[in-house]
Amino acid sequence: MEKASYKFLQYDTVVVGSGAAAYNAVDWLYDLGRGSIALLTEGIRMGTSRNTGSDKQTYYKLSVGFHENDSVHEMAQTLYDGEGVDGEIALAEAANSLRCFYKLANLGVDFPTDEYGVFTGYKTDHDPRQRATSAGPLTSRYMTEALEESVKRKKIPILNELLAFQIYEEDNKIRGIVCLNKEKLSDNQLELVVVAANHVIWCTGGPSACYKNVVYPAGHTGMSGALLDVGAWGANLQEWQYGLASIKFRWNVSGTYQQVLPRYVSIDKDGVEREFLTDYMSREEAMNLVFLKGYQWPFDASKKDASSRIDLCVYEETAMKGRKVYLDFMHNPSGLEGGFDILSEEAHSYLEKSNALFGTPIERLNHMNPLAIELYKNHHIDLGKEMLEISVCAQHHNGGIQVDANWETSIKGLFAAGEAAGTFGVHRPGGSALNSTQVGSMRAAQYISFTSEECIPDPSLWKVSPGKLVEEIGNSLLSMIGEENNALEVKEDLQNAMSRVAAQVRNLRDLIDLRGKVETYRTHFKEMVKVPSVRTLPILLKTYDMIVTQCAVLEAMEQSAAIFGSRGSCLVKGDSDGYLPTMSLDQNYRLITKKQENRFVSFTQVVSPVPQKNDWFETIWADHRKLRQSKHKQS
Ligand SMILES: Cc1cc2nc3c(=O)[nH]c(=O)nc-3n(C[C@H](O)[C@H](O)[C@H](O)COP(=O)(O)OP(=O)(O)OC[C@H]3O[C@@H](n4cnc5c(N)ncnc54)[C@H](O)[C@@H]3O)c2cc1C
Repeated sequence: MEKASYKFLQYDTVVVGSGAAAYNAVDWLYDLGRGSIALLTEGIRMGTSRNTGSDKQTYYKLSVGFHENDSVHEMAQTLYDGEGVDGEIALAEAANSLRCFYKLANLGVDFPTDEYGVFTGYKTDHDPRQRATSAGPLTSRYMTEALEESVKRKKIPILNELLAFQIYEEDNKIRGIVCLNKEKLSDNQLELVVVAANHVIWCTGGPSACYKNVVYPAGHTGMSGALLDVGAWGANLQEWQYGLASIKFRWNVSGTYQQVLPRYVSIDKDGVEREFLTDYMSREEAMNLVFLKGYQWPFDASKKDASSRIDLCVYEETAMKGRKVYLDFMHNPSGLEGGFDILSEEAHSYLEKSNALFGTPIERLNHMNPLAIELYKNHHIDLGKEMLEISVCAQHHNGGIQVDANWETSIKGLFAAGEAAGTFGVHRPGGSALNSTQVGSMRAAQYISFTSEECIPDPSLWKVSPGKLVEEIGNSLLSMIGEENNALEVKEDLQNAMSRVAAQVRNLRDLIDLRGKVETYRTHFKEMVKVPSVRTLPILLKTYDMIVTQCAVLEAMEQSAAIFGSRGSCLVKGDSDGYLPTMSLDQNYRLITKKQENRFVSFTQVVSPVPQKNDWFETIWADHRKLRQSKHKQS
């Protein structure tokens, strides 16, 4: 092929993605009166929101339970207390949580109420109240489907099969994005699509491609590198959430999967099987910590001598010893031969109240939560007949692209919402990610609609014409198609290394070595990485994006280790034996990472506290009217 063909599109605002955040963004833009809008996605049915779930997938919002006496300020403070969280963002997430929640309920997401319509909540992790609710194991899918229906009813254009991979900006202002048309690839055609836009809302989800061990759905990768590469700042990129998950069918093994006390088994390369937790602790401890894993699912450095020891043992067996680890529901763990008296008071009384002090783990699971067995059956795994392979997996990126309280990035006109945005810090209440997909996307749509006149962008003002831009990018891509085909290999090698040295256990020396290696790939990507054909270009683009993101994440991890030590979701191994302690700090900091002279650098910023608002109605009303009349023309 000699050169790429190209197509040119223009919108005032384009939303990238088709998860819960993206659909909500474009839906709000329409409701706020914008007409020159489109949603663009690499695959309508892809992404985390639509394809994942958990035991009881949680949505976090201000509590409206019968006896609850919650307040916006209190919820904002909870989010802010997660460390590294900007107080203004925390306030926006709290203040808008009910509005977004009720929108979903009105669209038909079936959040349970009592007979009078009270949305009773429950307590989730890092939650001082009962702010959590759930529409069942597939809450995020129901949200996405309901929002998608709404978008389709409004006939908002949906551009499918476009893989956005490059941001075009001038003088720190967004001009547009460049996409690969995936539909044309099967005909071996390289078509690039330039979308000129005054505003882009980037909702590409968490950058799961960074790791091998993930519980993100298969096929989901994220695309945060495109923003970091062009100079958008990252916030708290070192902060992730990890936990135990099955890997053939990706699902968190939390809740009853642990509370029924499965046997933890590891198998070495020669097929030799052994129950391994008792190599690390007593039988009694093992059983009680497994029980606690049920509701202390995320790996937590502060629980390294408690329930998170289980994750550490699994990590040791898999990443360090190269074995495979399984949950065996068919047999009881050693220690239960003499009955259940060996259990802690808490575990014993829980199983007793559930009438489950009997039988084998699978029998207890069948009694307490038969749907949990059904779920795996639907994915061709029979827990009554086979063991379930598990690993410690990345589940959520708490950090991400740095945004302000309108979800605008450090590049004017470029917004990031949902998991791509770095609005959380070290801890976050369970369910707050889904709230953030809704609040962030709505805030971005509101800001765009309230502050700018809608207009079609004028590419004749660009310093580089769209045609020239495409020619350069197309030629560069074509030069990376060659005999040698190593993109997949490079990708898997780096993902494996990230899971081994830069996940819940971070070995500082290995992490620094890995960073050097990934940096070399980033700076010499064109010479070092090849794909065999036009059809395989998505792999090339995603590998580059992964490498850029890994470089930024590893820089943040290295700096974070020196400044914060072990904390949140990670334990850091330094030069001496044992883990680095958690450093005590005088202030609440977030870590910013940005590209400077073609290298990522990080620095701390003190986060602003939750604003103590003037809540005098007349003053707020006057400000409100001023904002609505302040629309500016695009340049
Ligand atoms: C197992 C599991 C359980 C979870 N449980 C909970 C929970 O209980 N509560 C909670 O709050 N959160 C939970 N989360 C997190 C939550 O589900 C996600 O953070 C959220 O769904 C992300 O939504 P999103 O819209 O930002 O991204 P996604 O839903 O991932 O959507 C991203 C979209 O972007 C598109 N896209 C990506 N790259 C490109 C590109 N380059 N060009 C064009 N399109 C692109 C994809 O096709 C996709 O449509 C869980 C996550 C997992 C993995």
